[in-house]
Amino acid sequence: MSRVVLITGGTRGIGASIALTFQEKGYTVVANYAHNDAAAQEFNKKTGIAVHKWDVSNFDETHTAIEKIIAEHGSIDVLVNNAGITRDSMMHKMSPENWSSVINTNLTSCFNVSKAVLNSMRENKFGRIINISSINAEAGQLGQTNYSAAKSGMMGFTKALARETARKGITVNVVAPGYIHTEMTAAVPEKVMDNIVAQIPVGRLGEPEEIARCVLFLADDNAGFITGETLSVNGGHHM
Ligand code: NDP
Repeated sequence: MSRVVLITGGTRGIGASIALTFQEKGYTVVANYAHNDAAAQEFNKKTGIAVHKWDVSNFDETHTAIEKIIAEHGSIDVLVNNAGITRDSMMHKMSPENWSSVINTNLTSCFNVSKAVLNSMRENKFGRIINISSINAEAGQLGQTNYSAAKSGMMGFTKALARETARKGITVNVVAPGYIHTEMTAAVPEKVMDNIVAQIPVGRLGEPEEIARCVLFLADDNAGFITGETLSVNGGHHM
């Protein structure tokens, strides 16, 4: 039977690319999303990948949804915590709402979703959890105290959970993308983006597939000796 992978925020951008990459390799893929029904329906129509709508920052919604997915597919073997948002502003102008929504969607979601799949992974003595962080966790970024805090919080979370689960055949790792060609980066003003690209040694943005490939590698049955690690994929932007 094929392994089951759940990708949060799996209907657009990097998440959608991860979903397609796993589908190509024969995994049973389930993709989550929260708001954009049109994009999710189109993704489902085009790929046949099952889409489930819920807000990963909500503990109860997450548990109800994951119970349903496990009942339907028997297990979730690979979890990719990919859902994320930005709400940028300089710290002195940042609202408490923009602090909390970024922390809750990017970081608290990792607690919510990982906790919901953990018992099933422990029982099966197998699991792969891959958390999508960011170069801006490693380097910091102005206008992103909320995002950098959430994304580096994921790194501490990953190491602690990796220790807790290692004896149960579960690995927990981070992939930290640099600037990738998606709607999230398309929202950045062109001038700012030109400036960023000028600082990337390989001279371009990354492509979503280049992140997906790394996630697939860490999810492999044979990747069981890699845990608590961060794989930075940023074209040499931060070393
Ligand atoms: P996109 O904005 O293109 O897609 C985000 C996805 O997350 C969407 O599917 C969205 O669903 C989903 N999502 C957002 N909030 C929630 C929520 N509360 N519950 C469930 N799903 C939610 O993002 P990217 O593909 O660009 O980024 C993916 C991940 O990679 C993020 O964690 C991001 O922080 C990280 N990253 C991205 C980089 C980049 O350059 N793009 C660089 C470094 C890290 P919906 O369609 O319903 O809105």
